Amino acid sequence: MITFAIIFAISYIWHALGITLGYHRLLSHRSFKANKFLEYVLVLGGYLAFEGSPIWWIAIHRAHHKHVDTPQDPHTPLLGWWESLYGWMMKDTYPNHIVPAKSCPDLMQDPIYKFLEQDGNWKRNHALALVLNLLFRAIIWATFGWMPALASLFAGVIVLQVPLLLNFVCHIPKLGYKNYESNNDGVNVWWVGILALGEGWHNNHHEYPGAARNGFKWFEIDMSWYFLLLFRSLGLASNINPGPKELYTKKVQIRKVRRRYSRRLSRAA
Ligand SMILES: [Zn+2]
Ligand SMILES: [Zn+2]
Repeated sequence: MITFAIIFAISYIWHALGITLGYHRLLSHRSFKANKFLEYVLVLGGYLAFEGSPIWWIAIHRAHHKHVDTPQDPHTPLLGWWESLYGWMMKDTYPNHIVPAKSCPDLMQDPIYKFLEQDGNWKRNHALALVLNLLFRAIIWATFGWMPALASLFAGVIVLQVPLLLNFVCHIPKLGYKNYESNNDGVNVWWVGILALGEGWHNNHHEYPGAARNGFKWFEIDMSWYFLLLFRSLGLASNINPGPKELYTKKVQIRKVRRRYSRRLSRAA
């Protein structure tokens, strides 16, 4: 049982970091630079949590930011809970307004990402991801036995649910709070922040999508950010976008943020 728990915990962290740092903060937002070794280790962690083709994920995510909480947002809760959680994935291909060649030219250069993308055919790229995910667990089973394989599978399936849940929960205003008044429904939700290793501070993220840090207040724990600082100290990551300057200026940080926010409000009015 202890072996199961340890393998589950290590797998959970690897898969979750694969999504938060790999798919999201690195590939989607380019909020830091990673050497190719770290990039592939992270992206593999995300892919083995059933996340699907990186190009597919990132094309959808960039469209989410661009069209947030409008009918063109692929998974806004305004489309209904089923569509927002799972329904949006069950299509044959991209909607007309999402063209990966245009929104993700940076990722199209990479032959591995291009192969996993399967020419934009969603059924094929999801099927390929499923087969490779199961094959990975089969190899663990054959090499180390059924318990590590089951722990790894369990971690992958649970981590898969987290960003799906985040897309829904963190866009329902009454379930969280805002540090910034924004033009979308993104909110900070503490328990998603914990489960998603720092990604639940979603109002902060929509305000500063280019920041590699998502937790802004002292209690907004952002495990992915701490891991990123560790990777930087090991020489694996650089050019980190630390987020707004206000966060690093003594204790007046949040008041400054608030002032900025009220200025925005008065401009809007
Ligand atoms: Zn969002
Ligand atoms: Zn994002």
